[in-house]
Amino acid sequence: MSETSLGSALAAGIRARCPHCGQGSLFRAGLTLRERCDRCGTSYAFADAGDGPAVFAILILGFLVLGGALLVEFRLNPPVWVHVVLWGLLTPLLAFLLLRILKATLIALQYKHKAGEGRLDVE
Ligand SMILES: [Zn+2]
Repeated sequence: MSETSLGSALAAGIRARCPHCGQGSLFRAGLTLRERCDRCGTSYAFADAGDGPAVFAILILGFLVLGGALLVEFRLNPPVWVHVVLWGLLTPLLAFLLLRILKATLIALQYKHKAGEGRLDVE
């Protein structure tokens, strides 16, 4: 995987793979990062997606779930329990999948752009 390609960084993010080699898995379990790539050994100590994935997930899921609930309500007019079961199950599942993709993508972009906290170079 080329380190300078935006497309490969995004592909690694979507597949939750190592931003350096694109092969090793980024997550140990759920949304917990591994310490390093199990294929190339790249340390993930640099990775800090912060609140970015949560913000994007809230905005995207809010649009999808509210839009879906309105669509189901006005097209099908189901009883309330259908909404409770449908969106109560679908929303956490979508949130997990979306957070995983967004976190991996932001880490891949952080790796690609060598983003980090600013430092003073005083000597
Ligand atoms: Zn790797």
